[in-house]
Amino acid sequence: MTQPMDLPQRLTSLLGPSAVIAEGPDLEPYAVDWRRLFPGRPACVVRPASTDQVAQVVRICREAGAAVVPQGGNTGLAGGAVPDASGTQVVLSFNRMAAIRSVDPVGLTIEAESGCILKVAQDAAAAAGRLLPISLAAEGSATIGGVVAANAGGVNVLRYGMTRSLVLGLEVVLSDGTVINGLRKLRKDNAGYDWKQLFIGSEGTLGIVTAAVLRLLPRPKHSVTALLSVRDPAAALRLLELAQDELGDQVSAFELISATSMQLVAKHAGLRAPIAEGEWFVLIEAASSLSGLREAAEAMLGSAFERGLALDGVIAESGAQAAQLWALREHVTESEAREGKSVKHDVSVPLTEVPRFLAEAGEALAAGAPGARVNAFGHLGDGNIHYNVLVDADHDASVVNRIVHDVVAAFGGSISAEHGIGQYRVGELARYRAPSEMELARRLKHALDPDNRLNPGKVLLA
Ligand SMILES: Cc1cc2nc3c(=O)[nH]c(=O)nc-3n(C[C@H](O)[C@H](O)[C@H](O)COP(=O)(O)OP(=O)(O)OC[C@H]3O[C@@H](n4cnc5c(N)ncnc54)[C@H](O)[C@@H]3O)c2cc1C
Repeated sequence: MTQPMDLPQRLTSLLGPSAVIAEGPDLEPYAVDWRRLFPGRPACVVRPASTDQVAQVVRICREAGAAVVPQGGNTGLAGGAVPDASGTQVVLSFNRMAAIRSVDPVGLTIEAESGCILKVAQDAAAAAGRLLPISLAAEGSATIGGVVAANAGGVNVLRYGMTRSLVLGLEVVLSDGTVINGLRKLRKDNAGYDWKQLFIGSEGTLGIVTAAVLRLLPRPKHSVTALLSVRDPAAALRLLELAQDELGDQVSAFELISATSMQLVAKHAGLRAPIAEGEWFVLIEAASSLSGLREAAEAMLGSAFERGLALDGVIAESGAQAAQLWALREHVTESEAREGKSVKHDVSVPLTEVPRFLAEAGEALAAGAPGARVNAFGHLGDGNIHYNVLVDADHDASVVNRIVHDVVAAFGGSISAEHGIGQYRVGELARYRAPSEMELARRLKHALDPDNRLNPGKVLLA
């Protein structure tokens, strides 16, 4: 049996020195998460260049009794991609497995290795005149493997669904090193269990994704982006209903931004909304391949003003202006990070309950955590609000978590709409999911990873 201390040497002799980082400052970026909340200490970082090498790494780590922590772009917001502080866990990075294997504009598929950056995959699809609709502010660093393992959402879920709805096939390495090749490009495949679903969204705890086939869509030729201010979230919801009545399924994004978010973006990113100030803002995007979209969108906005649903607004006149409007939304997370300590909640409630949820969570916080500032924004079209709470550095985050998550639970909501559980919410999940659901999850974990070697301590506590 290889001793954990010999592990870096053994991996180095297998993969070569450039594939293993065992010490020094180069380890640091792999050891701590994007928010720098969970500093870890890896035994080493290993960077395999092929699926076979991933399988060999998993077998060697298993022999040595070492846990493996898969890592893509390390942009996850739940501390899922970093090791614990024991110095015994091996980070398996995909940054040498980044190839796009094929783009098929007729079959509407893209096949890519796990380390392929999401933006690179989007661009490859665009170059073929097709659309890979997974889109999020971290797309310049997030990877295909990370997006699949996290079942990422983003701004286009309203129209295209979560990542899960776009995955056609996966290649996975199991905890014993077995490679399962399910890289099928089929739209219809009911031949037995659809096992790939187990790995999508399981955050590297059930298996390691080495490559994926994703579904593409025809690329819309026209798009319209508008920023509006609204009186309150209830008006925003009525605006969503109007947009869906008038523009149908062409509405691809419907984002809610609070005045606090706009203020943070102005302060830390120097970006300002080109419309009159208000308490709440809505960013809408619609896209279509047929002409007439802009006229339909202008008519829809006209009735929004007539009905008093919108207070002020602007429609982007060019792609550059649309990008400027999106930049306001995309800089919220980063600007909030610069402001200081925030307690993050990535929650969802039934769509029609969002206004009541926001009101009740605000009241509960005012009573239980006086002085805390709410920074709420997110994917209103999906009932998903990033309900983040800005507090002093010494404020107990668990008190704030409890207040917000109890309100979420009272509305039948989820404590993680799209960011996953990782280590950040592992205790909270056990509190808010029924014991029978937790037991089912444990049985799945035990069946696929009986020795708890794949990303232990994430999603489920041992
Ligand atoms: C500014 C910003 C904005 C964001 N916006 C959104 C958003 O709108 N919607 C959203 O859903 N998320 C968002 N995120 C979170 C994050 O970008 C996504 O979760 C993304 O999918 C993570 O990809 P990654 O490659 O960085 O994965 P990592 O952070 O490296 O890993 C995420 C999880 O997946 C596991 N994992 C990684 N690769 C593999 C693999 N090949 N096989 C098995 N497991 C693996 C890791 O162990 C970890 O548990 C945002 C993050 C930032 C920083």
